[in-house]
Amino acid sequence: MGEWIVKQSHEHHPLIFVLFGATGDLAKRKLFPALYSLHKERLLPERFAVVGVARGENTDEGFRSDVLSAVETYARFDVKDQQDWDAFKNRFYYYPLDVKSHEGYTGLKALLERLDHRYQIPGNRIFFLAMAPEFFGTIASNLKKTGFTSTQGWKRLIIEKPFGHDLLSAQQLNQQISEAFAEDEIYRIDHYLGKEMVQNIEVIRFANTLFESVWNNRYIDNIQITSSETVGVEERAAYYEKSGALRDMVQNHMLQMVMMMAMEPPSRLKTEAIRDEKVKVLRSLRRYTPEEVREHVVRGQYTAGRIKGQAVPGYREEPGVDPNSATETFVAAKLYIDNFRWAGVPFYIRTGKRMAQKSTEIVVQFKEMPINLYFNRERTLGPNLLVIRIHPVEGMHLMLNVKRPGTEGGIIPVAMDFCQNCAEGTPEAYERLLYDAMHGDSTFFTRWDEVSLAWKFVDAISAAWETSTSDLAHYTAGTWGPEEANQLLRKDGFHWWPVSGQSPEELKSVQKVHKAVEVFS
Ligand code: NAP
Repeated sequence: MGEWIVKQSHEHHPLIFVLFGATGDLAKRKLFPALYSLHKERLLPERFAVVGVARGENTDEGFRSDVLSAVETYARFDVKDQQDWDAFKNRFYYYPLDVKSHEGYTGLKALLERLDHRYQIPGNRIFFLAMAPEFFGTIASNLKKTGFTSTQGWKRLIIEKPFGHDLLSAQQLNQQISEAFAEDEIYRIDHYLGKEMVQNIEVIRFANTLFESVWNNRYIDNIQITSSETVGVEERAAYYEKSGALRDMVQNHMLQMVMMMAMEPPSRLKTEAIRDEKVKVLRSLRRYTPEEVREHVVRGQYTAGRIKGQAVPGYREEPGVDPNSATETFVAAKLYIDNFRWAGVPFYIRTGKRMAQKSTEIVVQFKEMPINLYFNRERTLGPNLLVIRIHPVEGMHLMLNVKRPGTEGGIIPVAMDFCQNCAEGTPEAYERLLYDAMHGDSTFFTRWDEVSLAWKFVDAISAAWETSTSDLAHYTAGTWGPEEANQLLRKDGFHWWPVSGQSPEELKSVQKVHKAVEVFS
């Protein structure tokens, strides 16, 4: 597993970090700040250099000042000490290259060899492709043709999502990069796996008797996973129109969280043992027929509404979006994992844009106490809930029933609360992921069989959706999605638990639904 603490004491591995797409958004907002944080935490190797690659002409000094402005804008550490900053920035170099042109790679290779010599690096490389996916295959094969992959030292390739847009395209992409890199050299990023509380799931589960002993269908009623955004499609319409929420969020982030929640304890806390258990979850995930897709999967699209008091347009009015678009900006689904542990326990997932609140959260709803017994005669006891908060608040709380203080009696729910990021300074996902990749730990990256099984599951849903768009539901921007998503749970006698931190009005309305379910069930 990501042995964050253990690895700190290990010797750092010398390497050159080659960043393709060094002038892009991801590099500026995430990668430079992450490298700077690792520098401030003394977690970068001493013998280390970064080479930024993009098409535009620039000098090393010009590139370094771009890195400075990115760090000043987005990093969690301030740049205060000039000497310390110089020590960091002087390791950054820039190399202009159109990645499609094979000739330019020879000069890049020569630069890396000079830097190997300067920093005494034994040929170790990380190639990070922060570029549009259509370049991944070209870069990998040009690296191979120019001999980057056959020199002394280890080589690792980090690639961003999306990994294909369906199973077939993912297979083609995988085939292309596999010609240059072995599976254990490929680090496919799903940045959710770098999030503190996602990594914490296995510790919460496997380091606490309290949870692991009840982590099954005897004690758990259902599990709910929400990842909601308040932003709309922004400038990404060209990509999003083809992708939609199913491919953009469910195939990767949502299924990764399902796997972390549902996996069996691995035989050892080693990368491949953990990944094997995650893959088994996907193998047990029930695949749906087109009729079952209509029954268990809800798709929605936002219409004009208000976010934080501001009027926002509907999806079809967004720049670059087809006015008749049937692209889903919201998905809710009921999943079943057909194995002994989870038989009969629904996993409800929902994700969408322009929702009421930005939040990623998992709720484990435990079974209710028997009715007509002791305290639950009136069916007034709420179930125990374990709420794992992933973003923006990191932490968890456990809802318990306790006696109302005082003499009148009665029972009230209380939350035992643990906040991970209330104390400042938890590392960003990319810090952890870059650090792991530098140490050759691929636990929190996705393996090819995970990616391909996830596509198989998602492709069946897309295929069912292609036949007709009559089931596309609409929801007003600034709400929790279409009514159909509530019905999905109501049919089973459940409801979505309000995401932590919702307004008191919203909490009240959900509680009313809860009461209604009780009355009619
Ligand atoms: P971006 O802002 O469009 O940046 C693309 C980069 O690629 C630029 O540095 C561009 O530089 C370079 N580039 C384009 N064509 C090139 C060519 N022919 N040769 C060499 N360099 C070329 O993209 P991004 O938002 O950073 O996204 C990069 C990747 O990360 C994508 O796969 C995206 O899906 C993924 N991703 C991004 C985010 C995010 O927050 N941005 C989040 C998750 C995943 P020049 O134009 O100067 O050549």
